[in-house]
This record gives sequence, structure tokens and C-alpha cells, in this order.
Amino acid sequence: MRVGNATSWQALVYAGLAAILGAMSAASAGCTEQTTARADGPPESYPYKVVTTVGMVTDIVANVTGDKAAIHRLIGSGVDPHLYKPTRSDVIALMEADIVFYSGLMLEGKLAGTLEKIGRTKPVVAVTEAIDRAYLLAPPDLEGHPDPHVWMDPSAWAKCVEAVVDALAKWDAANAEFYRANARAYIKQLEALHAYGKKAIATIPEQSRLLVTSHDAFNYFGRAFGLQVMGVQGLSTESEAGLQDLNRLVDVIATRNVKAVFVETSVPAKNIRALIEGARSRGQEVVIGGELFSDAMGEPGTYEGTYIGMIDHNITTVTRALGGEAPSRGLHGKLSRPAFE
Ligand code: ZN
Repeated sequence: MRVGNATSWQALVYAGLAAILGAMSAASAGCTEQTTARADGPPESYPYKVVTTVGMVTDIVANVTGDKAAIHRLIGSGVDPHLYKPTRSDVIALMEADIVFYSGLMLEGKLAGTLEKIGRTKPVVAVTEAIDRAYLLAPPDLEGHPDPHVWMDPSAWAKCVEAVVDALAKWDAANAEFYRANARAYIKQLEALHAYGKKAIATIPEQSRLLVTSHDAFNYFGRAFGLQVMGVQGLSTESEAGLQDLNRLVDVIATRNVKAVFVETSVPAKNIRALIEGARSRGQEVVIGGELFSDAMGEPGTYEGTYIGMIDHNITTVTRALGGEAPSRGLHGKLSRPAFE
């Protein structure tokens, strides 16, 4: 659905967007002083309007701004941010926003042009700007681009809280101390989450600390908590090369006594079956460890619909499925289902 040909309807919408953005640039060129004053803050009234992209960024902003802001999130739960294109109403929300926060590092690649245009008239902040470049991973398949999935490491995500608080403290200086106090409290929770992850993953027998997953989103998660990560995006039984890869993976799973893999619907069922049967023929019982959250959080209003709940779910599920010890309802006893029982 997402990658189909552009229909005439879509073409119309994009033509409309171009017109809106064009008009906006023209308008801002005509009254530069006014828009500059507004962009510098402070807000004209409370709650002011913030637009965010993914849920993980929204969570930071909500925790830092408290009741000072009304937040409009563009990218819903279960939606792939890599492929997300702005709708007409998204552009209107961005135009009406006082300040905008997004993740960055090309995560919201198809929004980049729109965000750049909006950024000429108001603060538009990539929260990952706060992360030291030396920290970032650059897997070979991304051709020199950094891996954008930094929220998978809570200590790195805590840095992104600083980007939000710095931007807000500058823009709405009268409330700087309020934002800083909120940020400190939230960062404390993220530190507790990180500590939980390290402690839980360390209970998995050392040789079995291997996360086999169909996502490419877990590199920072693995580095943060001491898990090796193997992606199986291309797992296939269709060709000789595919079979060789599969057999190599079966080998690793059997020799390292890996009890679960986290491959999901993006890998064809028969390839997963071949993996599980291959391991079994080597005397290794392997199960599907359950669904992990990668690029989007759970439904709003649930614990998994918060950043902390999302990562807690991942840590707890991986730990228990791989033979480690963690409470079945996670760090805070709040997971909506017991993880891996
Ligand atoms: Zn991703």
C-alpha cells in the first residue's frame, strides 16, 4: 500500500502542499521582522502549540513541557517513520505550530523537505542533534549515514531530552527552570530504565546473549545492554546462498544455545520454519520470542504506548526469552501482558 504508484488524488494533494509551502515562504519573506520575533519566542499564550513526529520524541516533549504546551503528534503508533509522507493536515499543523521537534538522522526522511521549509519561520529542532557524533553507528548498508535508531539506548535518548530542554529554555526563558526540573525528573527515569536493562540482560547466560531479529533497529539496543545483534532481513530458502546463510545462522543458534529468535511477519513463515527445524535437528529448541517495538510505540493510553513502556517491554521480553531473569510484568510491573510466559 505504502509503495504503490502515486494516484492522481495523491498528485493533487502534493500539488496543494507545494502551493501552501510556496505561499508560506512568500508570506514570511514579506514580513520578516514579525516572524523572526515570533520564532525567537516567548510564546504569545499558553498552552502554545508544539508539533512532534514520532511517539518517542512526543514523550520527551510531553514530559518536559507539562501543561505549558498542546502537542500534536504527526506519526501514529504502528506507522513506519522511514516511509511516512506528510499529509495536507500535517502541513497545516506545522504551519500553525509555535515550535517543532523531530528525531532526525534521516529517520523521518520523507518529511525532511517540509521540516526544512518550516524551519525558516520558527524553531524546528532535531532532538538527536544533542548526541555526540562519535557515539553514532554507521552500518555499511546505510552508505555512510548514521543509524537513526538511537532511542533503543536509553542513555543516548536521555541526551535528546537535553536538546528539547535547551531549545525550550531559550525560546521561553521565563519557564526555563520549570523545563529543567521536568527534564531532570524524566532523565532520572531513563537512567533507571537503562540500569534495569543492563542488569536484566546480564542474567542471560553469556554465550546466549544474541538477539536474532528481522529488524535493523536494534544495534544501539545491543550495544547499550551487551547483546550481539544479528539481522535476518534477507533470510531465505530460495537460493543456494540463502540456504548457506540459513545454515550458518542455525549453527550459531545451536552452538550458542540461543533459545529464541525475534523474527516477525516480514520474514516468510516457511523460512522461519526452516530455521526452527534446522536448529531442532541440531538438538536446539528455538521459539519465536515475541514481538518487539522498533520504530513506533504501542497504542496511546497503554504503558507500552510510552517510551519507557516500549523499552521495558523489549528488555523484559528479550531477557526472559533468552533464559535470563526479569519480572514478567517488567521494571514497574506495568506491562499489559506478562512478557514471554
Ligand atoms: Zn527503523
